[in-house]
Amino acid sequence: MKFSLKRFISSVLAVSFTVGTAGLLCSCRRGFGADAEGKVKVVATIFPMYDFAQKIGGDKVAVKMLIPAGTEPHEWEPSTNDMLMLEEADLFVYNGAGMEPWAEDVLGSVKNKDLVALEASKDVTLLKTAEVHDMEDVHDHEEEHDEEEHEHHHHGEYDPHVWLSPKNAEAEMEAIAEALIAIDEANADIYRKNLEDAKKQCEDLDSAFREALKPYEGGHIVVAHEAYGYLCREYGLKQIGIEGVSADQEPDAARMREIIDKVNEYGIKCIFFEELVDPKVAQTIADEAGCKTQALSPLDGLSKEDIDSGRDYFSVMQDNLKALVAAFE
Ligand SMILES: [Zn+2]
Repeated sequence: MKFSLKRFISSVLAVSFTVGTAGLLCSCRRGFGADAEGKVKVVATIFPMYDFAQKIGGDKVAVKMLIPAGTEPHEWEPSTNDMLMLEEADLFVYNGAGMEPWAEDVLGSVKNKDLVALEASKDVTLLKTAEVHDMEDVHDHEEEHDEEEHEHHHHGEYDPHVWLSPKNAEAEMEAIAEALIAIDEANADIYRKNLEDAKKQCEDLDSAFREALKPYEGGHIVVAHEAYGYLCREYGLKQIGIEGVSADQEPDAARMREIIDKVNEYGIKCIFFEELVDPKVAQTIADEAGCKTQALSPLDGLSKEDIDSGRDYFSVMQDNLKALVAAFE
């Protein structure tokens, strides 16, 4: 690394600032710091992409999460400042399937010609939004996720929450491993080893879900938004969403009534809320129907506290499983 006078001056200035001010300057810039030197620079959109990239890349990658912690991601859009990160990056990992409807526009305007873009869900069999709705009228209309469809993932056409099935999480990590190996062949063995470890954990998680939820097959869950289509499909559950796939519309009085009627009809004992969606509607339904409430995380986003305390895909999913079982008991 060649000596940079500018960098030298700015580090002298930085130490003369208070810690708080320096921290503020860093978060404004949102770039890759000196720590990223010699590593593959990855920009990941939502928490699962950030977590998966970190698991596969280990200490060979520097990963930045584009959507800030604690932000509900469905309606989020990048600012010009966010785009600067992509100019420096080697790899952009997005979930796809309509989770980041702005991704194609952003990629079109990035000047960084070496940037590799990966749609992590590319090998997953997607569920159409219409199939996810209530999961009670589900027919076998699974769509193959082929190249032609790639260009047409409109916001809300598919259920983007593929990672909520451990098998899909595995497929996404596999896609990330392939991309990292293509960019940084020298460390291919490390990425392959990390993928093997992650796959084993996904398989264990899948077995734990399958076993623990088996007695409740066909059971209904009431959730804050319709994020659990893939989880329900995998383990034989049915979801009733207070809000839709994109968590962008609170239910009207008629929909509230409909949910409460279903809660009574199916003898549902628990209403799930989630951290990034206002729990007041879930609470109202629970009060009306006389049930308890409990948190269930779609992993759309995690709070900064959760990320800082080391919470990851696997620990949150284990908690989700406990919450699901508790709801049926
Ligand atoms: Zn969501």
